[in-house]
Amino acid sequence: MSVTVKVPAKVNLQLGVGPLRDDGYHDLVNVFHAVSLFDEVTVTPGPLAVTVAGASVEGVPTGPDNLAAKAVVRLAGHLGRAPEASVHIEKAIPVAGGMAGGSADAAAALLACARLWEADVPLPVLMDLAADLGSDVPFALLGGTAVGLGRGERLTPLSCEGEFHWVFALADGGLSTPAVFAECDRLRAAFEAEAGWPHESPDLLAALASGDAKALGAALTNDLQPAALSLRPSLGRTLAAGREFGALGELVSGSGPTCAFLAADAEHAAELAAALAEAGVARALAAATGPVPGAHVLS
Ligand code: ATP
Repeated sequence: MSVTVKVPAKVNLQLGVGPLRDDGYHDLVNVFHAVSLFDEVTVTPGPLAVTVAGASVEGVPTGPDNLAAKAVVRLAGHLGRAPEASVHIEKAIPVAGGMAGGSADAAAALLACARLWEADVPLPVLMDLAADLGSDVPFALLGGTAVGLGRGERLTPLSCEGEFHWVFALADGGLSTPAVFAECDRLRAAFEAEAGWPHESPDLLAALASGDAKALGAALTNDLQPAALSLRPSLGRTLAAGREFGALGELVSGSGPTCAFLAADAEHAAELAAALAEAGVARALAAATGPVPGAHVLS
């Protein structure tokens, strides 16, 4: 018997970063949006092991450090049983790309093992286990569009009308999320920029609720973008190219280096992806739509 779970990547439509807290974290306003780039995680009975395959899997650990392995151990601990599951990950979500691929795999492993072990784990308990594993993990279970407060893990679903069309410019190499937050703190200190308390953007919420792509494009914001650009200046060219080719809006996804561009419709997304490929400003381009559902069992 095996269980396969399909799980989406996320893009952050708003990432508001508050001042550094005493515990080393930041208060966030994080508007997550699940998009149609998916990893598939399959679990089978056996000793705990992780294998990974896919177009780009560089830097993904296959030992106990893999977030999916941590999820297996965490769920087994909760259930008081041995973590016996062999995990295979088919990766399409870029690694260390600011699209929460590792978190997605952890969410998928939780759901898959609960099914494999025939354990009746209520969703709120699964969400708590997910939050223990990382602040982006609960959203990968939930999917859709949602705002996350606190470290990003206290989630409220948002009303989102229709379907939005995205183009993602994947970069060579990743950016470490902690390094990008540290650079954000460094830049704020260097420029004596007082970080305000982040608030949900009313313009963004209205654009989502009405399905207005043009208004959504104008409302995209990411407080980590200056830090990602400081660590990877070439992203400035990528973003500028998308603007020049008519994207309705563009931003660095999460901690980067993936850049996200909003298109008017599927045709516009295909044109935009072709123009960005031609301009040579990305390692690869991927078109996707959002919102899509969170982690779900396929077999
Ligand atoms: P986020 O957007 O949540 O900040 P990210 O998309 O930038 O994350 P991930 O792809 O989740 O980054 O990977 C970050 C690091 O986590 C990788 O460089 C890798 O060392 C480690 N990692 C552990 N498990 C996984 C996994 N299953 N898939 C990818 N990376 C993993």
